Amino acid sequence: IFLGGILGLGTIIWISRQFRSSSFKYDNSNSKPDNQKTAVNTGPERNFVKLMKQQNRQVIFFYGSQTGTAEDYASRLAKECSQKYGVSAMTADIELYDMTYLDAVPSDNLVVFVMATYGEGEPTDNAVEFWELFNGEEPEFSESTTLENLKYIVFGLGNKTYEHYNAVARVLDTRLSELGAKRIGERGEGDDDASLEEDFLAWQENMWPHFCNALGVDESNAQSGPRQVMFGVEELDAVDKTSLFLGELGEWKNPEQLHQTVVYDAKHPYQAPISLSRDLFNESDDRHCLHLEIDLSKSNLTYQTGDHIAIWPTNNEVEVERFGSILGLSDKLDTAIMVEALDSAASKKHPFPVPTTYRALFRHYLDICAPASRQTLMSLVEYAPTESSKETLRQLATDKDVYRIKVGEAMRNLAEVLELCQDDDEGTATKMSSGFFSTVPFDLIVESLSRLQPRYYSISSSASTSPKSVAVTAVTLAYQPTKEEDRTVYGVNTNYLWRIHAPEDNSIPAYDLNGPRDTLKNQKIPVHIRRSQFKLPRNTKLPVIMVGPGTGVAPFRGFVQERVYQKQQGKEVGPTVLFYGCRRSDQDFLYKDEWPQLFKDLGEESRIITAFSRETEQKVYVQHRLKEHGEKMWEYMEQGALLYVCGDAKNMARDVNQTFVSFAIEFGGKTEQQAQDYVKNLRTSGRYQEDVW
Ligand code: FAD
Repeated sequence: IFLGGILGLGTIIWISRQFRSSSFKYDNSNSKPDNQKTAVNTGPERNFVKLMKQQNRQVIFFYGSQTGTAEDYASRLAKECSQKYGVSAMTADIELYDMTYLDAVPSDNLVVFVMATYGEGEPTDNAVEFWELFNGEEPEFSESTTLENLKYIVFGLGNKTYEHYNAVARVLDTRLSELGAKRIGERGEGDDDASLEEDFLAWQENMWPHFCNALGVDESNAQSGPRQVMFGVEELDAVDKTSLFLGELGEWKNPEQLHQTVVYDAKHPYQAPISLSRDLFNESDDRHCLHLEIDLSKSNLTYQTGDHIAIWPTNNEVEVERFGSILGLSDKLDTAIMVEALDSAASKKHPFPVPTTYRALFRHYLDICAPASRQTLMSLVEYAPTESSKETLRQLATDKDVYRIKVGEAMRNLAEVLELCQDDDEGTATKMSSGFFSTVPFDLIVESLSRLQPRYYSISSSASTSPKSVAVTAVTLAYQPTKEEDRTVYGVNTNYLWRIHAPEDNSIPAYDLNGPRDTLKNQKIPVHIRRSQFKLPRNTKLPVIMVGPGTGVAPFRGFVQERVYQKQQGKEVGPTVLFYGCRRSDQDFLYKDEWPQLFKDLGEESRIITAFSRETEQKVYVQHRLKEHGEKMWEYMEQGALLYVCGDAKNMARDVNQTFVSFAIEFGGKTEQQAQDYVKNLRTSGRYQEDVW
């Protein structure tokens, strides 16, 4: 029986391993009969080792990317690898390959991981399956696996304001070396809170010599020859207009016509109507906080209380025109173009839907508003039209301080930087006010700009009480980055949403609100739902303590509604306490009118405790109010309470964490170290959850 059991288990594991990569994996070893190899080859090649061999690639750059930055970094590294060091390389979305083949990578190849960490030390959506190989309940890569042949490089993208800084890159690095793989050079870590780009550049300087050493490449032969063109861009003369993508996301032109069974996700957002929008602030200045209700009733989309909704923005017309103008494309914005990767092994043949137009690219597909990177500026130097503009660009690209002041802190996008170079170019500027940088090949613009990414919002409604209507609570973002200049930077998505709400408000830039082919007409926006771990306890009796100042209150509106619903269903619901903070009770107190009834329904022990920072001489924040109620909160914690923190990741979340630590010292009699460990354990066991940004 015992032997039979072992054999049975072994068979199940073997079958499941084959099944997971079934439709693609067809040449792991020579053990399978030929007929089986072809029978299962129904999709793109997932065996990256085989692909590398077929394509004669020595290095593969995998990326785990949520917002496109890790993908962008992987492409930049791959380009440098082949262009400068003459080593053939490919980039790869880690989701698209069967990573169990890591054990088959030959020792003269190199695998590079560019991995972002998301939220509470989690992998990005496209890296979840890979993560499970090491960290799942039954990890495929366990002690018995050997990766002795594998040489790897790792760079992590993280944010120091989060507890689990760069956890994905760190854990991956540890696991790989435990399994015998050999890391080349130091592990790189970039901090998005401070200077991600600078961290990345500094790490590269140290990494390349190790890279060359590992592959036996003579570093002194590094070339600075002609630029390697990554994308082919072709203007199309005769094109069937109906075949053009004018900003549609995914491969569908008209998702409305599709059947309800269609799966709406990050690659295929749903064009959802906004059924209600209102400004929650009562302020005379330009700050607004939008409450939106997004109607999902005509889709099969569902959500759970605590999930996130992703909204796909449109760039404003001022920036679209600015790019068109500086690049000399103003008259050609509606010209049809084809863009495709020239490298047959590129992870994406088309970086966005094509054929398309310059206008659609600037409006919908490219992140034209992000600050330009130093590396991008450097790559444009040779195309600057005059000596003086060349010099300005070079200085911005090479002098860190000048870059920081004029681009980084000033939040200047690429077109604005190019305008700056034009301004500095005395004499010629007036003559060539438009098209000054028409000298820049457009494929370099495509290569330099990332894809426009969706913005995430913590859903502020309860899935039980409004299953087909998602509420969003979003504060509009408009700021003057530097005191010296009278220049306002507008948050891409929140101002787009604001213009949908108030189309007549000309104080902010205009947007194409009707969308491509009017598909977004009548207040529609492209959305998809992202599952989150931020969830109420199953055991409704447990107390919950929520801390959510500002828009951090968003998910807690959903939580409180959910608790009321549970109570109405006859369940016993434990104490529910919400700490909320804002500037003034009469200006920006979000959902002020709703809380009294909700907490009345929840009963005596449940309440909202407020902190209004601008109503007292000394500023009072949520963490101060939390501290005042320390003894009671500790009592709840001892009863198994769940702690939730949402909103500002930088200061508030850290202070709140420290406040909970202080409770364990003051009321739990623990030492500082014991108290820190206690709170850490709460996090590990899921009793302390954060949804911060
Ligand atoms: P963008 O154009 O993306 O600009 C934002 C960037 O501007 C920032 O990243 C920062 O680099 C820069 N910036 C901002 N202020 C300044 C300044 N003063 N000086 C210099 N630079 C500055 N937001 C909500 O309002 N409500 C929510 O419920 C919510 N939930 C979220 C949940 C998650 C999981 C995440 C990741 C984010 C959430 N956000 C929420 C934030 C939201 O996704 C957007 O980042 C926010 O709405 C701004 O988007 P935007 O496109 O208008 O701004």
